[in-house]
Amino acid sequence: MDPQAPEPQGPAIPNSLSRRAALGRTLLAAAGGLAACGSLPRQGRTGTGTRSDTPLDPGTVRVRLGRWEAGRPLEVVANGRPLEITRAAGGLRVDGRTATEHTIPSPAGVRVNGRLHRGVLHLTASPVGASIHLELDLEDYVEGVVAAELSLWSAEPAELEAQAIAARSYATAILARRRAARGARASLESGTQDQVYRGTFEPGASAGEQLAAARLRAAVRATRGRVLWQQDRPLAALFSASCGGHTSDLSAVFSGAADGAAGRGGAVCPACAARAAREEAQGAPDTERPLGWKVTLSPADLRATGLALGLDGPLRRLVPDADAGGRWITVAVEGEAGGPRRVTADELRAAVGRSRMKSARVLQAWPHAGERITGGLLLRGLGHGHGVGLCQEGAHDLAGAPWGWTSERILGTYFPGAGLRRI
Ligand SMILES: [Zn+2]
Repeated sequence: MDPQAPEPQGPAIPNSLSRRAALGRTLLAAAGGLAACGSLPRQGRTGTGTRSDTPLDPGTVRVRLGRWEAGRPLEVVANGRPLEITRAAGGLRVDGRTATEHTIPSPAGVRVNGRLHRGVLHLTASPVGASIHLELDLEDYVEGVVAAELSLWSAEPAELEAQAIAARSYATAILARRRAARGARASLESGTQDQVYRGTFEPGASAGEQLAAARLRAAVRATRGRVLWQQDRPLAALFSASCGGHTSDLSAVFSGAADGAAGRGGAVCPACAARAAREEAQGAPDTERPLGWKVTLSPADLRATGLALGLDGPLRRLVPDADAGGRWITVAVEGEAGGPRRVTADELRAAVGRSRMKSARVLQAWPHAGERITGGLLLRGLGHGHGVGLCQEGAHDLAGAPWGWTSERILGTYFPGAGLRRI
């Protein structure tokens, strides 16, 4: 395999919109909740064969940390000392030795630009510098992902466990798929193209940080090797910040992404539904932890949005097609002239700006859908992110009071039809 070839594409979707990036939160005491989910049986070791029967080592993960361009800083500290790395004729020169690829074991951990990693570092020469990969134990990887994807300081134990299982499932499923297509050197991205991994969590000396680290380790240990399982293989479990009250089907939101489509039609999220009801009753989003959002598009915004969507000018009309949970899936958009174009709701979000139109779960539009937009456009909606799979804010609430759900019950709610297995 050519290590310089572009990385294989899994689902061309950012898996996560980290809840860390979401606004601060206050626990909402909402009563009720769904009945227990279906059983999630624990089963014995099963292996993880793929449809093409490519052997999979479920215990090791290869992650692409990034690339280095010669001339820019790259600090690598291995076995307690910094390495001297330069681009050289014939490859990379690392501590005086030139090769096209360097494998750098460092049992006590390796630091790359200040971040600690437990694993073996691989530097591979590229035309402009080097690509940087790390091979590490799946459980160490999962610990790093949970640390990057959740607010550890306020996370509940069952929330950490649910996130650990989802992260492990996604990594196992996606790597199996990529290894089947590209061989053993296939890797995961360390950013939101897959799930965020920044390295080993290093707590400070404070009691709070030490406690957070202990809880993180305990959650990963308690769920060691456990993955969501569906249709005889691991499930590529997606997650997003908050679903807004109802999750959506993977294949509906991301057309063409058929694999791992747990939960046909989505599922009710009792935690977000309770928050939505409370915001509805008070007539405004929560001040500290809003679920609701609204965006107002000015004439200039409508023009930029229309052009971004390939229209001949400003966006003048939109007619959405929503799923059972109220999430826009596709939208027929129209400019000044010509017939409407159908785009995905995610394309509309990208054109408006995903940080402004926080989700495709739109409650209301002014002017109403189908009416001509003359001045501006106001959209009001709920949630943050794509809304497929695990709802991170929902999982946080369900793991705490008054629900107090276990990780199994939480996962059963967001991934109906999936089971749990140990790999
Ligand atoms: Zn939710």
